[in-house]
Amino acid sequence: MNELIAPPLPFDMKPRAREAVRDLKLQQFVGSATHLKDIHRGGIFDRDFGHDYDALRTVARDTKQHALDHLDELLEQFIANARASGATVHAATTGAEACEIALRIARAHGALSCVKSKSMVTEEIGLLPAFEAAGIKTLETDLGEFILQIDGDAPSHIVTPMIHKDRVATAQSFVRELGARYTEDPTELTMIAREHMRGLYRAADIGVSGANFLLADEGAAVICTNEGNFDLSVGGPPVHIVFVGIEKLIRGARDLAPFLKLLARSGTAQPLTVYTSFVRGPRRAGEHGGPKELHFVLVDAGRVGVLASEKRDLLRCIRCGACLNACPVYRKVGGHSYGSMYAGPIGAVLTPELERAQAGGGAGLANYADLPRASSLCGACYEVCPVKIDIPKFLLHDRARLRERGLSPKSEGAMLRLWRWLAERPMLFRLAIGAARLHARLLGQKDGSRAWLRAAPGPGAGWTQSRDLGMPTGERFRDWFATHAAKRDTKRGAR
Ligand code: SF4
Repeated sequence: MNELIAPPLPFDMKPRAREAVRDLKLQQFVGSATHLKDIHRGGIFDRDFGHDYDALRTVARDTKQHALDHLDELLEQFIANARASGATVHAATTGAEACEIALRIARAHGALSCVKSKSMVTEEIGLLPAFEAAGIKTLETDLGEFILQIDGDAPSHIVTPMIHKDRVATAQSFVRELGARYTEDPTELTMIAREHMRGLYRAADIGVSGANFLLADEGAAVICTNEGNFDLSVGGPPVHIVFVGIEKLIRGARDLAPFLKLLARSGTAQPLTVYTSFVRGPRRAGEHGGPKELHFVLVDAGRVGVLASEKRDLLRCIRCGACLNACPVYRKVGGHSYGSMYAGPIGAVLTPELERAQAGGGAGLANYADLPRASSLCGACYEVCPVKIDIPKFLLHDRARLRERGLSPKSEGAMLRLWRWLAERPMLFRLAIGAARLHARLLGQKDGSRAWLRAAPGPGAGWTQSRDLGMPTGERFRDWFATHAAKRDTKRGAR
């Protein structure tokens, strides 16, 4: 059932990543979209908060951490308040249990059709395959998810699931699957999808969604979207189920402001998402919209285990996607290479941790031994994270655990030992750099290449299979250091 979070074991990222770096179209779509998002994110924070940006992140970090530290109290409060407002609250320890709860509700209403708004946790627990297997036809109503659904494809980004596709691919899918006329115009494509969905919203027996935040003091959920599809899926069908990970709890609306300011700006460089919807209880007497029955399914699926571990900070994640956009590895290989629906830097640490917490023991990391190495450790993910999750720290932690358990590639240790041996011998180090430069110059004279190394020997061979070791540009550190040291000495002498 948890197919996306647990691929055939152990998961090997390399073949997928190799395929991705050879796919020039994917490189172009993912590379340019993430680059633009990252630039716009920086721009809007500079414009709206300037130097206060870091202080806002600190408030968000501390608020979320406080909520995690008091999760048991907040859960009790939420359950009591949600029930008082007429909602039914369920607790699911595993993904399979969460699906079973949803199936029970659906069967009780004889549901055969469902409209679903975008939700990471339903992807994580495998709700859609469970519904389909039970004969409940489910429509993804988020436009990106809808296109992936009709293509039989999987999301590759937390916020923009179809980042790896363009409008030409969408146009072709609409002609093939919906019998629409061919158009590449984004507005027309949206109208085609809208027309297709409208009738289905009205006819659906059940609505399903996720939530961005749970407000303990109101027993309510907050859902941030840009397309209004959530409001239609909660407003139309007689029954609505909100699936939500327990880490989404905060004290109440008084804590919401910093998160709303950070979420949309970090994800899509918008001041706010177009819709920020609050759901509290089913339709009341005299109201014309809303479900007659509202259910909350509170999903654990490993979160309690993560909370008890040294990686509890990961539960602060508000799924903004900024770390994916900033990551040089994600930009190159896209989301499918990670083998989990949580891709990018956060996925590289969260996926093994959730699996470990569910399976127990060290299973999670052993099954995803590639993921902690899918990073250049440049620290960009930490710099952009609105809740200050120190992802590089956890990646290093996982690498150390892999080494302790003998799960690191042998070549890694050998390379590091060679590097250390060389770095401790300045004369040899200089000679080696000089030889590499000479080699690069000769290679360049021969065929115009700008690489130092195109085929490394021995244990380094794998590294150069899909990349060249490029020529360093600019001043050498050694020369820079010598110049600056000389300037400093001159200044001191002049004083
Ligand atoms: S780890 Fe931080 S940057 Fe990445 S998705 Fe979560 S909140 Fe956003």
